Amino acid sequence: MAIQEEHFKKVISHAKEYGFIFPSSEIYDGLSAVYDYAQNGVELKNNIRNYWWKSMVQMHDNIVGIDAAILMHPTTWKASGHVDAFNDPLIDNKDSKKRYRADVLIEDYVAKIEDKIDKEIAKAAKRFGDAFNEKEFISTNQRVVEYIEKKEAILTRMAKSLEKEDLADVKSLIEELEIACPISGSRNWTDVKQFNLMFGTKLGASAESAMDLYLRPETAQGIFVNFLNVQKSGRMKIPFGIAQTGKAFRNEIVARQFIFRMREFEQMEMQFFVRPGEQKKWYESWKETRLKWHLSLGLGNDYYRFHDHEKLAHYADAAADIEFKFPFGFKELEGIHSRTDFDLSSHEKFSGRKLQYFDPELNESYVPYVVETSIGLDRMFLAMFSSALMDETLEDGSVRTVLKLPSVLAPIKAAVLPLVKKDGLPEIAKEIVEDLKWDFNVDYDEKDAIGRRYRRQDAIGTPFCITVDHDTLEDKAVTIRFRDSMEQKRIPIAALRELINEEVSVRKWLKKIQS
Ligand code: ATP
Repeated sequence: MAIQEEHFKKVISHAKEYGFIFPSSEIYDGLSAVYDYAQNGVELKNNIRNYWWKSMVQMHDNIVGIDAAILMHPTTWKASGHVDAFNDPLIDNKDSKKRYRADVLIEDYVAKIEDKIDKEIAKAAKRFGDAFNEKEFISTNQRVVEYIEKKEAILTRMAKSLEKEDLADVKSLIEELEIACPISGSRNWTDVKQFNLMFGTKLGASAESAMDLYLRPETAQGIFVNFLNVQKSGRMKIPFGIAQTGKAFRNEIVARQFIFRMREFEQMEMQFFVRPGEQKKWYESWKETRLKWHLSLGLGNDYYRFHDHEKLAHYADAAADIEFKFPFGFKELEGIHSRTDFDLSSHEKFSGRKLQYFDPELNESYVPYVVETSIGLDRMFLAMFSSALMDETLEDGSVRTVLKLPSVLAPIKAAVLPLVKKDGLPEIAKEIVEDLKWDFNVDYDEKDAIGRRYRRQDAIGTPFCITVDHDTLEDKAVTIRFRDSMEQKRIPIAALRELINEEVSVRKWLKKIQS
C-alpha cells in the first residue's frame, strides 16, 4: 500500500480510537458521509472556529458576524441559482452499480496524464542535472507536448459540453477515452444525468399546505439576505464584511475521503462588500490575507498552493482555491471568489426590495460587489489533524505516536499527573487543575505508569504534561514536559499559568499574521 494511503487509514482509525471523530449513528452501521465529533474532536473543531472568528471578525473593525438560520425562504435558492444550477453530472456503471461524477472520472483520467508529464520531467531533470531547463523541456519535448495538448483538449471539451448542458457529449468523451469503472473494470455506462445536490424538506403540518424547503447548501445566502439589515443596524460603511460559521448540506454523489467530502458539514464564510470596480483589488488582498492566516499555524509554505480557476462559476469574475497537501494529494481547502453583484442583484429581482448602499463619498447609490472567502471547517480539521499525526522513533528505538497540533488548536492544553495515587500528590494535582481550568482546557489523569500517561497525551496532542511528585510537597514546583521536544523542566506551580499562556494564546499565534 502506498505510504500516503497507509497514513490516511491511520488518520481515520486514530480519530476514532482517541475520541475525535465517530461515524454517525454507528450502532446502526453509520450513515454514509455523515460524522459525529467526539470529546476531543469537538474541542479541536471549536478551537479552529475560534481562531478563524477572532482573526476574521474580532480583529477587523469593519467586519461583523451573524448566525442566520439553516432554513430559509425557498425563493432564496431560486435567486441564488441553486435550484436551477447546483447540479453535478452523474453516471452509473451498470455492472458494479456504482455511481460516479462524470466530470470527476474525466478529471481523474487527466490526472493520470499529468502524472506521466511529471515523470518525464523528473527523468529528464535527473539526466541533465544542473543544466536542466524545465520550461524549455516542457515546450520542446515531443512526448510532453503531446500529453499537454491531449490534456487541454479533454478539459476544454468537457468544460464546453458541461456549459452547454450537452450531457451526451460528456458520455461520448468518457467512452472515447475508454474510461473504465475502477470497481468492475467495465465500460458499461448509463447516460449522464444532472443531479441537484440540495436536500429538500417540508414545512407545515398537513400535506396540502406544506411548503417545500431546502436545507441550505451554503451559508453565504444567509449573509446576502441580511445585507441591508446589518448595514443599517450596524451603520456599516463600505468596504465592510459580514461573516458567519454554520452547517451546510449537500447530497454529494460521491462522498468519500472521510470528512473531506461530507453530506452535512460546516463552513466559515465571510462576504466583503466593496465599491463596483474595486473588486479585483480586494480579491487580491483577501487571497493574501487568507494565506497568511493559514501560514500563521506554522506548517510552512510546502503545505499550501493557490489554484486559480479558469472555468468560473456563473456568479464570479475571478476565483481561486487555497489547496492543502492532504494525505491523498493537494485538494481544495478554501475558496476565494469575486462574486460581482450577482447575489444582491438577483435577490433584488426576486424579492422586489432594493438592496443598495448609499455611498456618501460618491454621493450615489449602488449594488455593492462582493469578495467571498469560504473555508470548510471540517476540511480544516482534516488538514490540521492529518498533518499533525506522526510516528516518531525515539533514541531507545521505541516508537511514539504524537499529534503535533499547533498548540493554540490542541483540544487539551495541559494534563496534570500525580506521580503516584497517594501521599497527598493527587490532592495537589487537583488543586492545580482547579486553578488552571479557569483559563485553559485541562485534564487530570492518575491511571497507569507515568510513561503511558505521557503517550496518551501525546496521541491527543496535549502540548504540556505537568507531573506532581514527592519533591512538590517541599518545593511547590512541578516537572513540565513539552510534547514536541519531550524536554522536561522544573518550574514553580505559581509560574504555570503564564508559561502555558505564552505558548497557547491566540494572541501569540495570530500575531504572526502581521510579521
Ligand atoms: P468541491 O469542489 O470540493 O466540491 P466546492 O468548490 O463546491 O468544493 P465551495 O462551494 O466553494 O466548495 O465551498 C467552500 C468550502 O466549503 C470548500 O472550500 C470546502 O472547504 C468546503 N466544502 C464544500 N463542500 C464540502 C463537503 N461536501 N464536505 C466538506 N466540506 C465541503
